[in-house]
Amino acid sequence: MTRPVPAIVILGNGSLATARKIAQLYPGALVHGLAGRVEGADRVYHEFGATLREFYQQGTPIIALCAAGIVIRTLAPLLLEKGAEPPVLAVAEDGSAVVPLLGGLGGVNLMAREIAAGLNVAPAITTSGELRFGTCLLNPPSGYALGDLELGKRFVSDLLAGETVRIEGSAPWLAQAQLPEDTQARLAVHVGPGERVPSAHELLIYPRSVLVAVSGAIADLPRAIRQALRDAGIAVQSLACLLAADTEMASPSLREAALELGVPLRFAKAGASAQELARDAIAQPVCVRGDSSIAVAVAEQPLDLSQIGRSRGRLAVVGLGPGAAELMVPAVKAELARANDVLGYETYVRMAGPFRDDQVLHCTDNREEMQRARHAFELAAQGRSVVVVSSGDPGVFAMAAAVLEALHESSDAAWHSVDLQMLPGVSASLATAAQAGAPLGHDFCVLSLSDNLKPWSIIEQRLDLAAQADLALAFYNPISRSRPWQLGQALEIVARHREPGTPVVLGRDIGRPGQTLRVTTLGELSVDQVDMRTMVLIGSSTTRVIPRAEGSPWVYTPRSYGDKLTPIP
Ligand code: SAH
Repeated sequence: MTRPVPAIVILGNGSLATARKIAQLYPGALVHGLAGRVEGADRVYHEFGATLREFYQQGTPIIALCAAGIVIRTLAPLLLEKGAEPPVLAVAEDGSAVVPLLGGLGGVNLMAREIAAGLNVAPAITTSGELRFGTCLLNPPSGYALGDLELGKRFVSDLLAGETVRIEGSAPWLAQAQLPEDTQARLAVHVGPGERVPSAHELLIYPRSVLVAVSGAIADLPRAIRQALRDAGIAVQSLACLLAADTEMASPSLREAALELGVPLRFAKAGASAQELARDAIAQPVCVRGDSSIAVAVAEQPLDLSQIGRSRGRLAVVGLGPGAAELMVPAVKAELARANDVLGYETYVRMAGPFRDDQVLHCTDNREEMQRARHAFELAAQGRSVVVVSSGDPGVFAMAAAVLEALHESSDAAWHSVDLQMLPGVSASLATAAQAGAPLGHDFCVLSLSDNLKPWSIIEQRLDLAAQADLALAFYNPISRSRPWQLGQALEIVARHREPGTPVVLGRDIGRPGQTLRVTTLGELSVDQVDMRTMVLIGSSTTRVIPRAEGSPWVYTPRSYGDKLTPIP
């Protein structure tokens, strides 16, 4: 399983060099800097306490470059809450000390060792068991699972009190530890995939070396799998993955079973029975269900999943929002972090970064939408995790529709079994409206003024009807070098139905460096105030402007017509 990417949090510019060194150890890790104090961080935060607590509650490992005491005080209120505890470390801003604070079972000591090695210092490890034995028995490496934590804690404290231990079964990582081994010992570590009730003084560790192959429709799949494992005498903790034929890729019951059992789902070539699937993947099954729909196979070592079939490909079409990182939804951030491939118009791909070295970027021209959509499916159909980026929302004059059109045109079964997701973003009209106040607070109409993909006559007709219906209007793609006259014409149509004093909001590069917001009126608006990076919002007959303490005035459209119950004809 991949480890979560840590957040590196700094309070001042003095820590930036150390933070960068640490970031190199964790691909994808971002440096978060305090607003106004740090220049050149990957992300900006405004409040240290709230930021740290949010990371902690999300289970994100935290590397804070500040005094350990500050981190302890900040997280103290959360420590009594139950739940997962991510690794938390304090690192001296000059890199001279690395202190693991929390998350002993989440691998904090391993991180402390990694960071300390990267900074050429000794980590401040304080965990007795780990110091004495060189490994944390309660936190086995990936590929192994601990049987029972509470029993484990007692076991380790017996060891620390001076007892010796026998090791039954094989686990290379235990062989490297400095355990006080003795073949006559009362305490025993038992390593093996078999189902077993621990005897007194026994710590069970399960290698994830078992594969369950599944074929055909099976009622209550998770229960059937548990039963098959029980019949084979195998502990469910030893299960490493489920394997099915690649024609079953889109099966919801397989997905739910894998989720419930907490294991990944892999797929191999179609047409094979469960028994053949298991045998081709690792070994002759040790147990096959009567109707040959489930086969259990056991390997000598923990399974390397990259060697077993392949995963279901995923294609996510995501909206980045207008530009600012704070306006990107968390689901999109998570999707970008898991991506193998990122496709999009170069400006937007750059906006979605930074990326890790292992992530492949495919930047294309803005006009090549269909080609980009097909390329995305080709990559996802190979089992890769693919992200197509749009600015704003992907469903608003952007890639989501193009991707669905490509799918609609294709009869390739592999494309249709890709895990396709659309993840929304804050669209330019909404980001601009929020900065101006609430100009779209009542019914409104969204139009693209580009006649590249639709005839101008349709745009004229829609403008006329929308203006007549007294809808507030939001214009995307208002003007460009190749479409110089359309905006002027559009404004003339609107002016037939709206007063010259109607409020107009122009938002340019909203949420991006150098953003500008201008409030004017329909009568005063001229097309040279607008370019292709501008969002144009035109009020309805009820839209009002009121002074604001600073900057341009507030613009809002009340939610009711009040006494003005008949709209302007
Ligand atoms: N999917 C995008 C829209 C793409 S169409 C979204 O939902 O926002 C491109 C048009 O959107 C531009 O011509 C401009 O009118 C508008 N636009 C996009 N980003 C903008 C921004 N940051 N500020 C102002 N307008 C923007």
